[in-house]
Amino acid sequence: MRWSDSVHLPAFFRAPAALALLALVAVVGCRGAERSAPEPAPAASSFRPVLDSHVHITPSMVGLATALQVFERSGVDRFVVKSAGAVGSPRYRATLALQRVLGDRMRAFAVLDWDGIEDPAFGRKQLPNLERMRRDGIVGIKIFKNLGLGLRTADGKLVPPDDPRLDELFAACGRLGLIVAWHVADPVAFFEAPTPDNERWDELQLAPGWSFHGGDFPSHDELIAARDRVLERHPGTTFLLIHLANYPEKLDYVDRLLDTHPNVYVDTSARVPEIGRHPADQVRAFFVKHQDRILFGSDFIVEGDGSMQLGSAWHVPDVLPGLDDAVEFYARHWRFFETTERQIDHPTPIQGRWKVDAIGLPPEVLRKFYVVNAERLLFREPLPAVFDPLEGMVLRRGPPQHGPVEP
Ligand SMILES: [Zn+2]
Repeated sequence: MRWSDSVHLPAFFRAPAALALLALVAVVGCRGAERSAPEPAPAASSFRPVLDSHVHITPSMVGLATALQVFERSGVDRFVVKSAGAVGSPRYRATLALQRVLGDRMRAFAVLDWDGIEDPAFGRKQLPNLERMRRDGIVGIKIFKNLGLGLRTADGKLVPPDDPRLDELFAACGRLGLIVAWHVADPVAFFEAPTPDNERWDELQLAPGWSFHGGDFPSHDELIAARDRVLERHPGTTFLLIHLANYPEKLDYVDRLLDTHPNVYVDTSARVPEIGRHPADQVRAFFVKHQDRILFGSDFIVEGDGSMQLGSAWHVPDVLPGLDDAVEFYARHWRFFETTERQIDHPTPIQGRWKVDAIGLPPEVLRKFYVVNAERLLFREPLPAVFDPLEGMVLRRGPPQHGPVEP
């Protein structure tokens, strides 16, 4: 699935009045949150509120209302949307409107429009879009796994993560201070045969398209190696490698990666089941060693109609998670990171039929992981003072805003 395609905004939301209404609803939501004290989270502790650096909220009134309820009950006060759409799209504009009214509660990453990837100058031609993101207060670009596993050129070939056409793009992100949040490959099990023996069989049955076994798909290790060549080539660009650098199965590899590349951060989104399979003392040592470079993220997803996905799990019509399930999803994270309990349920049951051992992080490490690291990396600049949600709409009708791109 490409988030840039999943715009659920009715035409209504594209009108200026609707944007204002959306703003009003959001403001009311915020004021409500300020007025009433949040209900205690199931595993109440002094570490809340938390900053969730990795969520997806489709900008609709129902989606926002749902997300705010879950956040309030779970002790999440700030969050970062990883799927703001591509510059100029309705989703992008609506996400900016949301960001504007939520102010310092929210930041967002935008995505790229891959049309034109055939062009050798594709990377350079993204520059006006990157500059626009910067002006709009977008903190970075989000690259999905389709780079390497879905995006193809006209000759049918998959575009690899280290395609040279993207070098100018990565360099420009570094110059402009845009962070590159990157999802490469997927769980290792998705590259193995999708049979009942596969440890992620439950999930692959629901989402057969997540199997990358066979065909012309590169291996998991080839994708990771290609991504790492890009890290080598762009030391001046900051990379946020989500899903624990997409290799939570190999903690020692992620440890070396962080040692080697000071420009790399990782998040824990949707990977507690994998992280929690390693011995708890090793995981704790890893979090303590890299305590300034690991961000808490959940991959909590709210669609435009208010339906939710909890870190994974495709829609199963009969068992859509409800608000209580979402609160439990967060509570299981708190339990994993804060306690030292053994053989507990991980947050996302469908990601594997195994239990995990909690890692009981020290308070000062938890504070960095839950709040400080994301605050420093993603909330370091105030939102721009000038905001025109209609600018993109005007752009679409009129001549290009930017002249020829300088080489
Ligand atoms: Zn995500």
